[in-house]
Amino acid sequence: MSLVGKLALVTGGASGIGRATCRIFSKEGASVIVADRDPKGIKDTLDIINDKSKEKHLGVELDVTKSSSINNTLEKSLEKFSKPPSIIVNCAGITRDNFILKLSEEDFDEVINVNLKGTFLIIKTFANSIVEHGIQNGSIINISSIVGKYGNIGQSNYTASKAGVELLTKTASKEFAKLGIRVNAVFPGMIKTNMIESVPDKVKDRFRSMIPMGRFGEPEEIAEAITFLASDKSSYITGASIFVTGGF
Ligand code: NAP
Repeated sequence: MSLVGKLALVTGGASGIGRATCRIFSKEGASVIVADRDPKGIKDTLDIINDKSKEKHLGVELDVTKSSSINNTLEKSLEKFSKPPSIIVNCAGITRDNFILKLSEEDFDEVINVNLKGTFLIIKTFANSIVEHGIQNGSIINISSIVGKYGNIGQSNYTASKAGVELLTKTASKEFAKLGIRVNAVFPGMIKTNMIESVPDKVKDRFRSMIPMGRFGEPEEIAEAITFLASDKSSYITGASIFVTGGF
């Protein structure tokens, strides 16, 4: 699945699934823009993916909820590479779990802002730039979640945001098909990253017992599906929802 010569933006690239995606993209030959709000994590990802050619990748501090920060990321990409990325991975995401009866308005808004509005803002800014630069073969991959399909106790804000990501993906795929940009969504199950560290053990055990493959996934197992969607191997796939859940 060669990505030689491609330029990719990975939001949430400082951790978990985003970091694994940066690693596999760079192994497949892409230049990667590692974008996240965590500067230390960005540096650690760059240390992992940089080899001798330290100039190949770029780290940018990004808050996906702020248009000014997104514009700054685009400007830095254009400065360094003279073109926008043709591969965009919307991986930045947060949880603020609570039961609906106790969930604060702030925690509802924050999760929707990062997971759903952030995905929209990134798509809008970078797809416009892809079109302006006459780039064909664009590929946008949005990270939803399997709980965004079925719901999950204590995650009304998160599941609503991730369900929104699915329909944002499908609509964008219809609008962008004639522009040469494919848009797809990946739905991870339970994946071993910082995000699930705060989940209580008994909840984790309950989830594990419902996974036919009997285990949680590794970030790399999501990153491989993302890499397929980023590559020309998936050239006729757009508007798709791909579940990577161990059968959950
Ligand atoms: P993670 O390890 O927590 O990584 C998420 C990254 O996104 C973190 O570096 C985080 O920074 C960053 N981020 C959060 N808000 C941001 C913002 N406003 N602007 C820029 N970056 C921001 O989590 P992960 O498990 O890899 O999650 C990656 C994606 O997969 C998320 O969209 C998540 O919802 C989705 N997902 C994960 C699982 C799972 O089981 N792990 C399952 C289904 C879906 P901070 O650390 O500073 O917050």
